[in-house]
Amino acid sequence: MEKETTRVAIVGNPNSGKTTVFNQLTGARQKVGNWPGVTVEKKEGYFEYKGKFIVIDLPGCYSLTAYSLDERIARNFIVEEKPEVVVAIIDASNLERNLYLAVQLLELGANLVLDLNMMDLAKKRGLMINTQRLSDLLGVPVVETVANRGEGIKQLKETIYQASKNFKSPYFKVNYGREIEEALSRLSKEFSDFPGASRWFLVRLLEGDEEYMACLQEELQGKNLEEKLNLAVAQLEQKLNQDLESYLIESRYGLIHGLVQEAVEKRRETEERLELSDRIDRVVINKYLGIPIFLFLLWLTFQLTFKLGDILADPIDQGFGWLGEKVSAGIIGLNGPGWLASLLSEGIIAGVGSVLVFLPYIMLLFLAIAIMEDSGYLARAAFVMDRVMHSLGLHGKSAIPMLLGFGCNIPAIMACRTLESRKDRVLTILINPLMSCSARLPIYVLFAGAFFARHQPEVIFSLYLLGIILAIAMARLFKSIFFREEVAPLIMELPPYRFPYPKSVLIHMWERSWIFIRKAGTIIFGVVVLVWLLSSLPPGVEYGSEQSLIGALGKIIAPILKPAGFGFWQAGVALIFGILAKEVVVGTFGTLFGAEDEGLRAILVNYFDPVSAYAFMVMCLIYIPCVAAIATIKKELGWRWAIFATGYSLLLGWVVAVIVYQVGKFLI
Ligand code: GDP
Ligand code: MG
Repeated sequence: MEKETTRVAIVGNPNSGKTTVFNQLTGARQKVGNWPGVTVEKKEGYFEYKGKFIVIDLPGCYSLTAYSLDERIARNFIVEEKPEVVVAIIDASNLERNLYLAVQLLELGANLVLDLNMMDLAKKRGLMINTQRLSDLLGVPVVETVANRGEGIKQLKETIYQASKNFKSPYFKVNYGREIEEALSRLSKEFSDFPGASRWFLVRLLEGDEEYMACLQEELQGKNLEEKLNLAVAQLEQKLNQDLESYLIESRYGLIHGLVQEAVEKRRETEERLELSDRIDRVVINKYLGIPIFLFLLWLTFQLTFKLGDILADPIDQGFGWLGEKVSAGIIGLNGPGWLASLLSEGIIAGVGSVLVFLPYIMLLFLAIAIMEDSGYLARAAFVMDRVMHSLGLHGKSAIPMLLGFGCNIPAIMACRTLESRKDRVLTILINPLMSCSARLPIYVLFAGAFFARHQPEVIFSLYLLGIILAIAMARLFKSIFFREEVAPLIMELPPYRFPYPKSVLIHMWERSWIFIRKAGTIIFGVVVLVWLLSSLPPGVEYGSEQSLIGALGKIIAPILKPAGFGFWQAGVALIFGILAKEVVVGTFGTLFGAEDEGLRAILVNYFDPVSAYAFMVMCLIYIPCVAAIATIKKELGWRWAIFATGYSLLLGWVVAVIVYQVGKFLI
């Protein structure tokens, strides 16, 4: 019986040395014909190396977008004929441009071997390419050759042979960002009964691939998939504020840029005219400067948020105070019932008002995050954090959900969908609630303002930092308990810098702030009314006193909180209601004490001292994800992890708060 032959397709940019490699592999054993129906030359040859290999020299192309006949031939050969091995010839002296095709081949799911050809020229230009790193990051074998001198050809044959034995489906994926990824997963459901609707196919459709579009129209007459697709494209273009095709192309280049930053060292100044993006990156993602710059920007964000927020919050606070008095006086003046005046002014206006006062801080924080995101800095922050994250057994990519967690843990937890491995998703989601979300900010602003007035930003910064440190510690712990395997390396995308487009920054900021306002209007409103009711019942009891229902509830858990320094029932009640949404902690104090902001601060001083106030803030930081976050964890990972996340954070919050209080007392 004849031994099986393996088909090897050779693709690459024009002039990358394809034909030279082809000749080196096959020698004289070639035949030249035409591709069916067209006058493009088709070269086939064969060689033997531990088996028989047929080699096909595909036409040169820069991408698989099938704009030109050559590209279409190359793409369709790979898609339809499914050669067992695809060798991508890369001109190593022109790495970034050449890798674009390789990335598309990986998206296509080809069994790829990368041949870095023209290594002599690359070296001459001072490029030090870490082939091993490149191979690890892309998850495919990489060979170096100088084809015109026959160097590396034997190694190439061996690698082709190995690859032919070993069809592993590549784990590689271009991450196109939250919006696109969500659209892709929706489309893949809608296209589920369309054979061949692979991720690659869908991405190409989003990019407006005419050939695939035609194929869609032909096979799906009468179905409305095309409309769904057009709708998705229109929505995405509006959201991204950019032509979708150029966005997708930029994403791939972003990935390649990150890849090259990881795997290539430029020894000498190779390009005289470095692009502006590169020049900025030279500083921003520098080995030594990267992390200090990142921390500095975080610090700056907090300074701006609080300095500016203070100015804006005052009028809101006074407005609600004024409104409460007027409403109460109005009702009493009209001989209205006392309970109604109390419900409206002490309950609803004080409660909701005490939360809405923090809207300026939250909007400013979201504004800063939106600017970092849209300018391309957030991706750099992830790149910089990659080294730190790796030591935790996580990827730098996990840094983005973590940073988003400073805004709100819910979208942050959902952003974890873009992480490739389940392990990364689980770990990143579990520690995400430790990233201090904006809902906790009102608590910090209130307490730090009351007890650490002169060092407010620093105290708040320390809480954010504590959250990060705990997240790191927990990630390590959980990894060693639940996941022991090694971290597969990943490429960090570096999209080009751009000037943040004001409209889209404002939309981002507003969308997220709106969630906060809506929460204030619904959950918080409901809780505030509930707190008011429980504070007023049983009938005749003094409002919000120990004898009220709420007092009884608080008293049950107060003893547990005693070692942490806030063992009084109001704190217990605030923490219980804070599970619904952490802003509610402030709202509950507001309702229980019938005061907001300034007034509330004056009252709190009677209950807390600086040490117990700090312990309380720590407790609020850690003690539990809010209900909405728990629900999101459940949706992403299932009940077991949601319960685990709740349980561990409760325990951790208590333990750390107790340590803070006890150590603090001992030291002071
Ligand atoms: P194709 O268009 O991809 O088929 O490229 P060719 O195989 O025709 O090669 C283009 C040119 O690059 C030819 O002049 C080759 O001799 C030259 N070449 C191919 N490989 C190498 C290499 O590794 N180093 C250098 N310096 N030149 C090469
Ligand atoms: Mg050629």
